[in-house]
Amino acid sequence: MRILVIEDEPRILAFLARGLEAEGFSVDGAPDGRAGIARAAHGGYDLVILDLLLPGLDGLTVLRELQREQPELPVVIVSARSDLETKLRGLDFGACDYVSKPFSLDELLARVRAQLRRGRPGENGNVVRAGKLSLDVAKRQARLGDVVAELSDREFRLLHHLVLHEGEVVSRERLLADVWGYHFDPRSNVVDVCVRRLRQKLGATAPIETIRHGGYRLTAA
Ligand code: CA
Repeated sequence: MRILVIEDEPRILAFLARGLEAEGFSVDGAPDGRAGIARAAHGGYDLVILDLLLPGLDGLTVLRELQREQPELPVVIVSARSDLETKLRGLDFGACDYVSKPFSLDELLARVRAQLRRGRPGENGNVVRAGKLSLDVAKRQARLGDVVAELSDREFRLLHHLVLHEGEVVSRERLLADVWGYHFDPRSNVVDVCVRRLRQKLGATAPIETIRHGGYRLTAA
């Protein structure tokens, strides 16, 4: 697995490279956005870790460029700009995850592994299946029996997460972290609202089970 780290602070770059290499990843570094885009263009990377405050090209611009060239390449933002607005813009621009500096290496590694796992099990081309439910990743569409539902980005990501963890109880906190980004108020009910909308769209046989005090589980329908 090859990871590209776009980061202008040599100390942080060295720290990240050491940590990732200790986990068996092969790591390349780029000290600014242009160098990062040029390196990524040669391909072969499984994931990019991107700092936002970079000299020259701004990180969000770099993100947009990476998304245009390689929409399937997962990008995890690591930045001191922990304000909510920047985080949401990053996620809206297609970043997979956002880790605020200062961060723990363990947390970052967990996020990186989660991104690399995402979209693998059960994936057949652009369609992911769990029981009778199928999700078209490119069209952001869910199909269950005769029902075809167009999903919003959040609805899609939540359902995709449940599909990849079929049969497991997934907590609200985990869904908040993985679908909305990390620092939301854990008492927020956005997860429940989103699940309600998904059930409405999928109809009476929607295979999403509520686990009391636990979270949600996608049942093998
Ligand atoms: Ca920086």
